[in-house]
Amino acid sequence: EPTDIREMLEVVSDRFSFQLLQKHITIELDTASDLPLGDLDSDAIDQVLDNLVSNAIKYTPDGGSIRLSARLKEDHWIEVQIADTGQGIPKKDLERIFERFYRVDKARSRNMGGTGLGLSIAREIVRAHGGNIRIDSEMNKGTTVTFTLPAEEKEVSSIA
Ligand code: ATP
Ligand code: MG
Repeated sequence: EPTDIREMLEVVSDRFSFQLLQKHITIELDTASDLPLGDLDSDAIDQVLDNLVSNAIKYTPDGGSIRLSARLKEDHWIEVQIADTGQGIPKKDLERIFERFYRVDKARSRNMGGTGLGLSIAREIVRAHGGNIRIDSEMNKGTTVTFTLPAEEKEVSSIA
């Protein structure tokens, strides 16, 4: 079972390789290979990544790009970011975007498929792991989702 964030990001980007090709969207992975995750439900985290990458693809026009990155933030947290060059989310919608069934511009979203549950589930899962999630977005520039996950507890060598 992968507990390495780089591996998890690779698995998710591979899963979307067809859609990425179809929309001519490039995906870039920017993470060290040695970022061991702590105790977590990897199926649930995969579900979070799956939704965030699928959103990035859905709301990024043809020819855009997506960047997946992860880094050690503080001692015990890994920060993961999914950044796209898509249409963005209006400021007035940002604060409600994690609510169940909330979607920007129903007419726009209806054709895209989905129910508007992805982000609320993602937030529940991240919070259940003790982390947090936020979205920054600029209209017609892109959207960046940032969330934290527990890092592996390094054994502290106790030399008396
Ligand atoms: P589901 O995830 O249930 O299939 P969904 O993708 O519409 O449906 P969420 O993932 O919860 O639902 O996202 C909620 C809304 O936030 C989306 O409908 C869309 O309007 C907006 N949104 C989410 N991610 C992005 C993004 N990367 N760029 C622009 N808008 C986004
Ligand atoms: Mg979604």
